[in-house]
Amino acid sequence: MQTLRGTKDILPNEVKTWQKIYKIATNVLKIHNYQEIRTPIIENTELFERSIGNFTDIVNKEMYSFYDQGKRKITLRPEGTASIARAFITNKLYTEKSIKRLWYLGPMFRYERPQKGRQRQFHQLGIECIGSDMPMADIEVIKLATDILKQIKYKDEYLLEINSIGNLQERENYKVNLVEYLKKYEYELDLDSQHRIHKNPLRILDSKNLKTKEILQNAPKLTKYLGRTSLKHFEIICEHLTYLNIQYEINNYLVRGLDYYNYTAFEIKTKSLSQQNTICGGGRYDNLIQQLGGPKIPAVGWAIGLERLIILMNQNLSNKIEENKIYIAIQSSYKSNILWDIIDILKEYQLNFELDLSNNNLSKQIKRANQLKAEICFIIGENEIRDKSITIKWLQTRTQQTIKLSNLRKYIKYLKTLNYLT
Ligand code: ATP
Ligand code: MG
Repeated sequence: MQTLRGTKDILPNEVKTWQKIYKIATNVLKIHNYQEIRTPIIENTELFERSIGNFTDIVNKEMYSFYDQGKRKITLRPEGTASIARAFITNKLYTEKSIKRLWYLGPMFRYERPQKGRQRQFHQLGIECIGSDMPMADIEVIKLATDILKQIKYKDEYLLEINSIGNLQERENYKVNLVEYLKKYEYELDLDSQHRIHKNPLRILDSKNLKTKEILQNAPKLTKYLGRTSLKHFEIICEHLTYLNIQYEINNYLVRGLDYYNYTAFEIKTKSLSQQNTICGGGRYDNLIQQLGGPKIPAVGWAIGLERLIILMNQNLSNKIEENKIYIAIQSSYKSNILWDIIDILKEYQLNFELDLSNNNLSKQIKRANQLKAEICFIIGENEIRDKSITIKWLQTRTQQTIKLSNLRKYIKYLKTLNYLT
């Protein structure tokens, strides 16, 4: 039996990395007053059609959609922002009047061709800062992305690419002129771009095709169509990024694949992966909440693709499972119930242990403790059970001593002061 194409099991030694990322995100984001939110994985298909946009790749080709038993059209979420905007409206989070800072981590689903760093079920960590149109909000979220990458000790070089895509009107004006220009070269463009000319011309700017790129060099530039407000917003962001020492590059071709962005669009790209090198994508979306039936509230956010991040982390990090330090070997009998008192004490001191459940004789159990590279083996044989004591065998030095169960707490405390057990 295999997993479905484009999906993966996350095995116990990998889960550690996921937990580490979750912990770092929780800590960093809590300090900045971001709160975690968890929304359903299934939503009405209409939510994504209305937010991400009907002519985008995600909605057109990549969604996992189906009819449920009640004939409702349902989609497995392909991204987080639309669901958060929906939750914001559904739960009237706007009535609290303050800025809502939210974050999420969870699986997303897109029907794409699986390859390194591209899966059909993948995970995103994302944040949304809802309720401010200040450039400072954009800077806060961008800074948080770099803060989190830093904390994860993600040492590879990465670069922030940033662009302003203006407001809806500015983009519409630009589109007309862009299409007019591109039409002259329509049949020289790659096939994808030919399709996009009428439906989603801005996405052509993103094309990787060399011939298309060449044609674009003389195309009208979006920056020329931006008004004062758009330009000012962008300028302030760039100025603060420089102050913060966050390296960035202005990429006038960066437009992002989702319809709901305005003003700021950005991506964080790593230099060490040649393909699938975008680990974080985000931008400002001032109209999305209104478009979905809520009040007009501006917002900005991003999402990091965790599988891509983990590929890079693993290049730096050996992923060793930590061994349990204590192994418990026990002579099984109905009187061996003092075992549970010992386990309670280990729990009290947060010491991890493994209890032997093999029903082998004691010497085999001790051998097993050695194989597992435990530090100490607690031996609870017939004598120990009778005397309410424990024999503690140090596996490396092969020394051992027997102590009374009533002294176990004192013994552990002593070991802790010597830093034997952490
Ligand atoms: P790409 O250009 O790589 O397809 P995208 O623009 O579709 O990315 P976004 O929708 O902006 O991606 O999602 C944000 C991040 O989520 C991406 O930068 C990437 O790290 C991750 N991501 C997107 N799609 C996938 C996928 N199919 N598998 C793994 N990670 C993904
Ligand atoms: Mg994509």
